[in-house]
Amino acid sequence: MIPYGRQDISEADIQSVVDVLRSDYLTQGPAVPAFEKALADYCGSQHAVAVNSATSALHIACLSLGVGAGDVVWTTPVTFVASANCALYCGARVDFVDIDPCTYNMSVECLAEKLSHAEKSGKLPKVVIPVHLCGQPCDMAAIHVLRQRYGFKVIEDASHAIGGKYRGEPIGNCSYSDITVFSFHPVKIITTAEGGMALTNDATLAKRMQLLRCHGITRDVNEMTHEPDGPWYYQQVDLGFNYRMTDLQGALGLSQMSRLDEFVANRHNIAKRYDRLLVDLPVVTPWQHKDSYSGLHLYVIRLKLAEISKTHRQVFEELRAAGLGVNLHYIPIYRQPYYQKFGFEAGTFPVSECYYNEAISLPMYPALAIELQDKVIGSLKRIM
Ligand SMILES: *Cc1c(COP(=O)(O)O)cnc(C)c1O
Repeated sequence: MIPYGRQDISEADIQSVVDVLRSDYLTQGPAVPAFEKALADYCGSQHAVAVNSATSALHIACLSLGVGAGDVVWTTPVTFVASANCALYCGARVDFVDIDPCTYNMSVECLAEKLSHAEKSGKLPKVVIPVHLCGQPCDMAAIHVLRQRYGFKVIEDASHAIGGKYRGEPIGNCSYSDITVFSFHPVKIITTAEGGMALTNDATLAKRMQLLRCHGITRDVNEMTHEPDGPWYYQQVDLGFNYRMTDLQGALGLSQMSRLDEFVANRHNIAKRYDRLLVDLPVVTPWQHKDSYSGLHLYVIRLKLAEISKTHRQVFEELRAAGLGVNLHYIPIYRQPYYQKFGFEAGTFPVSECYYNEAISLPMYPALAIELQDKVIGSLKRIM
């Protein structure tokens, strides 16, 4: 099976992990801070807080922004469940904003309209979480204008987008957001096996997230309620978690970063080839904004169902039967059984529904060989 995504591990990556295994610290050593510094420098953000997953990063990002019971958080329906679950972890409610038919990202028009209604009914969101789907950045400048007008906070879920740029600037610099989150799951652009990072330019938010990833414990005298009892002393000043990244992961992430630009460039070459060779098929290939450089985590096509005699499901099943690990990103979150209890009705977000009925993610990863890509294209041609 040709997977839809997979990691690319070099001998240098392996050696970096082995070096940590032979060192004094498997966790809480120097590798994680080194990875944090390298990523903050790369992205142009002031602070980077490494954790054990993007899910954890989203959780502590919400907590550090004060999300709690009685609050509402908005995100897009077309994303991984973690983008919404983070608000539920904090006891807040979740609502969704429909997607743009062209980019598949949160629609800024829908967001503006929903905000204007929410203002009238006194139910403005505390936090909005735009997701850079497939790696293509959301229209952050426009979201920022709304953020200033309505006073909500912004967490960018950039799990798909490390290595990409928005208006020439690296995604992750938080120019238009409070916090940006990356994922390092093996299907993503660089990997630490499991892992995530929260970036911010706000020192207070960074401190709070550092506290929350490690039980709410501080060893900094300035953060304690009174003088230490002795040299052994630490204080738990909040209820945190064990969301730490290990040094094995930090070393792997740092080593992977040296090939980040190359990974994304390879993804662009693969995408250009798909664009070119799928042009005669009844599919919509991804639209790319000319002002941005996508991380291209995913390559999603949409079937023009009116022009073919098969259903979406048939095409998908036949691609799988041909040995292609195609996938569907994503099932709109509000259609998940767990979300039914919140009262969402099918059809509430028509553009997301339409996308769900047509989308297929084709194999896309830096080491995808031309022969394998030809097999994907050949199978698609035969099936359609
Ligand atoms: C993968 C992903 C996550 C979760 O990442 P983990 O590191 O696996 O926790 C969150 N949001 C989006 C959009 C993702 O694709």
